[in-house]
Amino acid sequence: MKALRIVLGDQLSRDISALDGIEAGDVVLMMEVAEETTYVGHHKQKLVLFLAAMRHFAEELRDKGHEVDYIRLTDAGNTGDFTGEVKRAVARHKPDQLVGTEPGEWRVARAMEGWDKVLDVEVEIRPDTRFFASHQRFADWARGRKSWRMEHFYREMRRETGLLMQGDEPAGGDWNYDGDNRKPWPRRKPVPHRRRFRPDDITREVIDLVADRFPDNIGGLDHFDWPVTRHEALAALRDFIETALPGFGDYQDAMKTGAPFLNHSLLSPALNLGLLSPREVCARAEQAWQDGHAPLNAVEGFIRQILGWREYVRGVYWAKMPGYAAADALDADRPLPAFYWTGKTDMACLAHVIGDTIDHAYSHHIQRLMITGNFALLAGIRPREIERWYLEVYADALEWVEMPNTLGMAVFADGGLMASKPYAASGSYISKMSDFCTGCSYDVKKKTGEGACPFNALYWAFLDRNRKHLKGNPRLAMPYRTLDGWDADRREGYAAAARHFLDGLD
Ligand SMILES: Cc1cc2nc3c(=O)[nH]c(=O)nc-3n(C[C@H](O)[C@H](O)[C@H](O)COP(=O)(O)OP(=O)(O)OC[C@H]3O[C@@H](n4cnc5c(N)ncnc54)[C@H](O)[C@@H]3O)c2cc1C
Ligand code: SF4
Repeated sequence: MKALRIVLGDQLSRDISALDGIEAGDVVLMMEVAEETTYVGHHKQKLVLFLAAMRHFAEELRDKGHEVDYIRLTDAGNTGDFTGEVKRAVARHKPDQLVGTEPGEWRVARAMEGWDKVLDVEVEIRPDTRFFASHQRFADWARGRKSWRMEHFYREMRRETGLLMQGDEPAGGDWNYDGDNRKPWPRRKPVPHRRRFRPDDITREVIDLVADRFPDNIGGLDHFDWPVTRHEALAALRDFIETALPGFGDYQDAMKTGAPFLNHSLLSPALNLGLLSPREVCARAEQAWQDGHAPLNAVEGFIRQILGWREYVRGVYWAKMPGYAAADALDADRPLPAFYWTGKTDMACLAHVIGDTIDHAYSHHIQRLMITGNFALLAGIRPREIERWYLEVYADALEWVEMPNTLGMAVFADGGLMASKPYAASGSYISKMSDFCTGCSYDVKKKTGEGACPFNALYWAFLDRNRKHLKGNPRLAMPYRTLDGWDADRREGYAAAARHFLDGLD
């Protein structure tokens, strides 16, 4: 029985279920289609990453002796969408069967659901077994729970996988070492040097294609140095374990001017494309702890991001789509400010994080959550606009992981399904965790008036404005007590300063 086996752009794993049982005579179909490159205006480096990694993966499969039918974006007759290309491939190869793996994004899943009706061939879509938890596993965990806290899910995953477990107990006695993982970057501490990857001929050809076809998309291509093959991704993993994992925990939340990477792994693009498996990444980190190379707070912190957060947000996405995309619990209605696309703002924290994003299609978690996300939350930016921004600008951005992080964690648009309180912070948090404020034209200590840090008034005005949504939240009892202890003039002072600042943005 001849099968047409479909491998999508984020399924670049040799053990992807679509390739299980592949036989001589089967054809692997890989497709570059216009719809995928344009459904949002992806950062130029994100486009290069996906297309270059796909082309390398096709070569790897050919080297292993498989027949690959690879459709390029520029091929004559390319219909521009998956369904059109699959139809054409069925006509070309006349397979008995079409085999695929469930896609990561809801939009693609809906398109694939119709294939058995429009194609005159048996269609088998298999589960994506690269994750620790299947959709069913997450649904079983979530059923009957009032709140879906990541920490509870994560503990079950630890027990189930045995990662960092000593019998029934967590390694070291605690499930979570987050309390140790909040150090700012010491002023004179050197930043670890990280291994990056020079584009080869295949990648350079893609860089030229993207520069030519997508000249107006955000981002530059001069710095493109992401791993695009399995071999490079393994080198990036090795480099992280050796140079950055030991300090990952301590400096997980730290931010520093001109140093977007610090001790972060930079592995999300490779993980999301399938060049690395979450299982091997967690196993390597655990081994580093067992070998005495990295401390437990670093390794637990790192494994929690992958075994906990990554699996959990995927579960939330698939359990809640499609309605989740429209979440707007705080009725936020301000358009996204233009500086999100240029980095041109007097607020040094935002200018640095957005500038690094434009240069590298990357910023680390706390920069996304507590700088660009926090500002969007406090300013009341429309959830859908800020959500699309994250999807466009990061190399690792796939909707299943980006959307819950944005709507649930950054802007509290799901009303607390994921986060027990909004991640709202004034300038003092940013000042504590970064050196951004020292080079800023605003004064972080000043609350209102000329030159005051905008995050300060925005923070109090946010709480005041959202009383009806947030006042009953026990985790916000303290700031609301402070706010309620002020007289009406003082409260109005903050509200007016915030209004004045936001009006200036428009
Ligand atoms: C608003 C917002 C949007 C985000 N959008 C994306 C996105 O589109 N794609 C994406 O992969 N991550 C996203 N994240 C999560 C996180 O910021 C990135 O995974 C991380 O910054 C990637 O860099 P790293 O590989 O150096 O991560 P590290 O800090 O080294 O973490 C290790 C790995 O853990 C995983 N991870 C860490 N935090 C999370 C998280 N909150 N959710 C899911 N996985 C996590 C990633 O696979 C990451 O590679 C977003 C976070 C926020 C707050
Ligand atoms: S002073 Fe305010 S705006 Fe400036 S960098 Fe600090 S937190 Fe950001």
